[in-house]
Amino acid sequence: MKSLEHWNTEQVKQHNRSLVLKMIYKNGPISKADISKNTNLTFATIGNITAELLKIKALKVAGYGESNGGRKPVLYEFNWENYYVIALDIGVTKVSAGLVNFKGVIYERYSISMTDFNYQTTFIEKVYKVIDQLLSETKIEISKIAGIGVSAPGPIDEDGSQILSPPNLQGVENVNLKDQLQQRYNLITILEKDANAAALAEQWFGEVNKNENILYIFADQGIGGGMIVDSRTYRGFKNGAGEIGHISIDPDGPRCNCGNFGCLEAVASGLSIITRIKKEIRRGGRSSLTDLYLNDEDALTLETIMEHGENGDELVLKILEETGRYLGIGVTNAINFFAPKMVIFGGQLVELYPEIVQISENIAKSRAFSTSAKDIKFVKSSFGECSGLMGAASIIQQLLFDSPGNTLIKL
Ligand SMILES: [Zn+2]
Repeated sequence: MKSLEHWNTEQVKQHNRSLVLKMIYKNGPISKADISKNTNLTFATIGNITAELLKIKALKVAGYGESNGGRKPVLYEFNWENYYVIALDIGVTKVSAGLVNFKGVIYERYSISMTDFNYQTTFIEKVYKVIDQLLSETKIEISKIAGIGVSAPGPIDEDGSQILSPPNLQGVENVNLKDQLQQRYNLITILEKDANAAALAEQWFGEVNKNENILYIFADQGIGGGMIVDSRTYRGFKNGAGEIGHISIDPDGPRCNCGNFGCLEAVASGLSIITRIKKEIRRGGRSSLTDLYLNDEDALTLETIMEHGENGDELVLKILEETGRYLGIGVTNAINFFAPKMVIFGGQLVELYPEIVQISENIAKSRAFSTSAKDIKFVKSSFGECSGLMGAASIIQQLLFDSPGNTLIKL
């Protein structure tokens, strides 16, 4: 970013609008005096910005504060009722769409199964179908929708337009969802890698304190990682950062969907659990899942496997323990390199097997090099299976609050 002294007038305006809007969003109802105290902007500047934002109905007057002798000050609040996001969560097994407001409340949601999508056309049609269904059921005015946020398995191209070639979404390759959705719905659309989006949701709607660097571990069918550094998503060169699922854990380990051997994803993801259980059963390992598997190979879902684990199936328990150990080692590597203040775990595997957070914490804390590792907070995401939708919503929210002049004002 350029230093402040090199900004042109429009950039300064944009920056100030963003400051005022964020202040009102987070602390409203709030008076101009309190905005001024917290932002160091003058009353005149704040007055211009609030007038502009009131005009486009981004703000509303929420009442009047206590008088200090003169007139009672006007209190401003963000106009929640006017801003919704269509959040789209593209997962390995399903696509979901939800209508979410800027407080992170999900009003409606629909899902559609992704079991038979081998061609780009089918994939896009399913995406349209789930959004169309959401729009027709909610009957929301399109003018109240700020944009479409998409959380999808990576890799995603640099400008948030295309899903490139996710190893776990076979058949989906170089799909420019951004252009297609923008054209069809006439709404600003941004794509983000699922783990980055989920990490951003923790910052907007979760318990993360400002400026805390966080590492988000998305342990689902695959494994992804997201990093927030100084309140921003850390992307790396060409959006390539955070691929913790493909760090090598065991050079002689099983082949990963990316083509390498022994990646974290190949030994600690939901899919890897299913693959290993099947392999052990074929080798003659004893398990209460054997009959089920021999009758129908596809019957072994992560949910079924977990149920058998809860009933004490020893093969399942052994594989889950190994999985936790591998995940802990992967997280240790990431901690040694990145030293976050907080590690947040989300995704289907974490939802079905929350113990994996504690197992990872124990391993990371006993193995990490840095002495500060003992103070790192390990937590499970508070959004459960909604973390994808919340993530998708937070992308649009971030965009609008960062550049309200280019986006909000135009609406
Ligand atoms: Zn890999």
